[in-house]
Amino acid sequence: MPIFLECQRCTACCRWPGQVLLNDAEITRLAAFKNVSEHDFIQQFTRLRSDKRGLALKDQPDGACIFLEGENCAAQPVKPQKCREFPNLWNFPGFEKVCHAIPREVSVAEYERRIALIKSKGNERSDQ
Ligand code: SF4
Ligand code: SF4
Repeated sequence: MPIFLECQRCTACCRWPGQVLLNDAEITRLAAFKNVSEHDFIQQFTRLRSDKRGLALKDQPDGACIFLEGENCAAQPVKPQKCREFPNLWNFPGFEKVCHAIPREVSVAEYERRIALIKSKGNERSDQ
């Protein structure tokens, strides 16, 4: 039976140093969600990626993501795919020490349903 990692919304992954990469469609969705033009969104909320090949979300002074407000993501319904995919579709060695997602044994069908939800680009909220 496959193991699905259920996010507990602890927001630890929103506080780690790193880059939340953005593609064009995500910039469009996030700008609409914030009710600003894409130009203004890019100016206010993004920075150049370290490889200079695109944009990433800005950090707050303490290193947290710019969209982290208290214990919540202020862009939850449209948060970037990179956020939605962690930790089930990508993670790193030792992530379990800092991520509080709970491993659940689920049926193959249920696992596939949850992974499809994570991968979907729509505004439907996933469990992540
Ligand atoms: S966009 Fe939301 S979920 Fe993603 S890192 Fe920022 S606060 Fe966390
Ligand atoms: S993915 Fe892990 S670290 Fe991020 S909010 Fe969920 S439980 Fe916390």
